[in-house]
Amino acid sequence: MSLSGTYDDQNIFAKIISGDAPAIKIFEDDVAVAFMDIFPQSPGHCLVVPKEPARNLLDLSDDMAAAAIQRVKALAKAVETALEPDGIVVTQFNGAPAGQTVFHIHFHVIPRWEGEPLGRHGGGQADMDELKAQADKIKAALA
Ligand code: AMP
Repeated sequence: MSLSGTYDDQNIFAKIISGDAPAIKIFEDDVAVAFMDIFPQSPGHCLVVPKEPARNLLDLSDDMAAAAIQRVKALAKAVETALEPDGIVVTQFNGAPAGQTVFHIHFHVIPRWEGEPLGRHGGGQADMDELKAQADKIKAALA
């Protein structure tokens, strides 16, 4: 898929937003939903997905971009409190050549630990119980 194109409302994140696909959610409001990445690049890797049906950041409205980055910041702070990483990477890919695989706008929040290599993007599926435990900790830190 190229950078520009038509929004496909059958993408997996659209289905999570509509409730037609499952996710281990951390928070949800009228702007965005945050949930655990099931192919995490590190323990605690989670995503903020704005609800606006936009393929990428370039398509997202200014209002939603501003509101989304506030949620990204709040989630990053909760990840810091909950998991005590040494660093946190925030990434957002636009277009397949940039690494985007799901064509609904989203931000990655990826905790990093000193000396721990980053896992492969879209690597192996995580243990669901571990993801739930991480989500519970992050949720508690948000509260
Ligand atoms: P990107 O390459 O930026 O489009 O990232 C898409 C991310 O979504 C990847 O990190 C995937 O591991 C993650 N992902 C794909 N399907 C799901 C799903 N059903 N639930 C949670 N995360 C997913």
